[in-house]
Amino acid sequence: QDFVSLRDLTLAYDKTVAVDRLDLDIRKGELIALLGPSGCGKTTTMRAIAGLLTPRSGSVHIDGRDVTRLPPSRREVGLVFQSYALFPHLSVFENVAFGLRLRHEPDLEAKVMAGLETVGLTDFSKRQPADLSGGQQQRVSLARSLVMHPKVLLLDEPLSNLDARLRLEMRTELQRVQRETGITMVFVTHDQSEALALADRIVLMRNGAIEQAGTAEEIYNAP
Ligand code: ADP
Ligand code: ADP
Repeated sequence: QDFVSLRDLTLAYDKTVAVDRLDLDIRKGELIALLGPSGCGKTTTMRAIAGLLTPRSGSVHIDGRDVTRLPPSRREVGLVFQSYALFPHLSVFENVAFGLRLRHEPDLEAKVMAGLETVGLTDFSKRQPADLSGGQQQRVSLARSLVMHPKVLLLDEPLSNLDARLRLEMRTELQRVQRETGITMVFVTHDQSEALALADRIVLMRNGAIEQAGTAEEIYNAP
């Protein structure tokens, strides 16, 4: 079933049309890669799903609801950026707890620790972000999103700030977290090998449009 639907979506900045009449359906639990060269519209598409950019025309549906005019806070989406954007003065625990506290959620400690367990960081809850490696900081950022139980997790070049070894390690980690949680994930990358290694389905973009979409096999065995 279609869980995220982008219909006839046109996205523009002032005079630049960045995405032109795009249609895309994403199923529940899918791990989708938006792949393509710099400037092809990947980040812009993701921003429209997140609600950070209002479309010029077309619609965005998430889980059967028209969210086209809703702000990010009301879409139940999670965002993970290439910069981890952690609060440097807060512990790992407090970083993960932040959004839950704003929502006044009960069982805060159990929820935070469950999130840290999902990303393998239970022993690090009292540390400060500066005491962690880049990969660990990215895991905290992932946990911080996951504990909010978003319907869709959007990741913009989540691994591109990591060194080569960590990048490979975090690929496996992201895939494991996605399988374990069953969460629908959309990630932006310009790295073909990353898309091939991670994604259930690759959406290949070019000049603000989808050139091709399918599994790795479908894309690379196409005539
Ligand atoms: P990608 O993520 O694939 O690198 P983007 O979605 O960032 O591509 O950009 C798509 C197009 O929109 C590019 O032509 C880019 O220059 C333009 N663009 C992106 N952000 C802005 C902005 N804030 N203002 C104006 N143009 C932008
Ligand atoms: P990405 O491809 O990951 O979006 P960029 O380096 O292209 O990274 O863009 C970084 C920032 O600059 C983004 O916030 C984007 O919206 C903005 N940006 C990109 N292209 C333009 C542009 N032509 N004019 C103004 N802002 C832009």
